[in-house]
Amino acid sequence: MPLSETPATTAVIRSRRVVLPDGERPADVLIRDGRIEQIAEHGSLLAGSRSDIGGGLTDLGDTALLPGLVDTHVHVNEPGRTEWEGFATATRAAAAGGVTTIIDMPLNSIPPTTTVDGLAAKRKIADGQAWVDLGFWGGAIPGNVADLEPLHREGVFGFKSFLAPSGVDEFPHVEQADLELALAEQARIGALAIIHAEDPAVLEAAPQQPGVHYRDFLASRPDDAEAAAVARLLDTARRTGARVHILHVSSAAVLPLLRQARADGVQVTAETCPHYLTLAAEEVPDGDTAFKCCPPIRDESNRDQLWAALAAGEFTAVVSDHSPSTPDLKLLQKYGGSGDFAAAWGGIASLQLGLPAIWTEARRRGHSLSDVVRWMSSGPAALVGLTGTKGVIAVGCDADLVAFDPDGEFAVHAEDLHHRNPVTPYAGKTLTGSVRTTWLRGRVVDVDAAPFGRQLTRN
Ligand SMILES: [Zn+2]
Repeated sequence: MPLSETPATTAVIRSRRVVLPDGERPADVLIRDGRIEQIAEHGSLLAGSRSDIGGGLTDLGDTALLPGLVDTHVHVNEPGRTEWEGFATATRAAAAGGVTTIIDMPLNSIPPTTTVDGLAAKRKIADGQAWVDLGFWGGAIPGNVADLEPLHREGVFGFKSFLAPSGVDEFPHVEQADLELALAEQARIGALAIIHAEDPAVLEAAPQQPGVHYRDFLASRPDDAEAAAVARLLDTARRTGARVHILHVSSAAVLPLLRQARADGVQVTAETCPHYLTLAAEEVPDGDTAFKCCPPIRDESNRDQLWAALAAGEFTAVVSDHSPSTPDLKLLQKYGGSGDFAAAWGGIASLQLGLPAIWTEARRRGHSLSDVVRWMSSGPAALVGLTGTKGVIAVGCDADLVAFDPDGEFAVHAEDLHHRNPVTPYAGKTLTGSVRTTWLRGRVVDVDAAPFGRQLTRN
């Protein structure tokens, strides 16, 4: 009997491949009132010995059971730019992709989440349209230092700043003086600063050649832009004592700077994204602006260096940076656009595809499902302080679970995704690894039924 039809609050999920914090093994997972109550030997529960388990058994056989993914980098864009992506469409896509918690970025919505009122507007409109659990980042922009502590008290998970223009006018980037103020305040209140690190001076000095050639776009956002910004950020973090997290690292030139800063005792973590790990500049077709994001997807040798760093534990998280827009703003040629990389909206739509995209490449490179879970579930959960609730299959944690067939292949059709707009650079690719079922706090998520996602605050 499927769990969704089960009124009882206890149930067992059985799999020969349960991905636990200490590795993969056969097990029975007992769920009670939305939490994991017990992890028992495979086949041991419901053998007639326990009369208190009323909710039935779901036996997954060889299909793996993973903790739900925690995606700490999602741009939902509602209210204000809901035609780009909204809470209903984003969280349905998340659930279908095995993501059970998202943390929403503070920009591209109008208002942005830079004031308590902005946060309230987000929370109000998200209410009743979240198919997965949902938290919010705040934003640190020029002039809002006084808003950070009130937002922190309201439970945002930290504050995002841009060191270069963000792409939207209502979320300006911070100059060095603003950055100093923001990081000093965040050190004082104990907040996590999350940073888009590209240096505006390096970007301005780079060659600007508009058009359909990806190489020209790549030259306009050089490795140095990331390296210079990260170096400046780390220096500021060192002086202010702030805890900083580098968002969406695309350039391997950043890696030695991170290693040195950690050796020096700077509190710094970093993330990268599925598109930097699975796509490469060499394969981007002329005019296919679905691949445009900032910082950009770089070449194959750079990608190999990112994988080596990931394998070495240098990235805390692999998260989507899902940042869609409408097809017209992407200037996609198949919708009659110019295909000009310089003018197109920069953002990758991939929320539903991160897990299979990463698994396809990870398996090819000899990694395990446990690795993927560390990068996409437990790592990001730890980043935002949700360890103990989310991101692991362990007693006491929320029963946020994913039945994942590691051998299931499928072709990506952008129109079939739950994303609001049918645009993704993975369109036409064949990926390995299918999400069969997603459970949120022990209940099967049905994207056609009423949502029961909750809004989360920082612990
Ligand atoms: Zn982003």
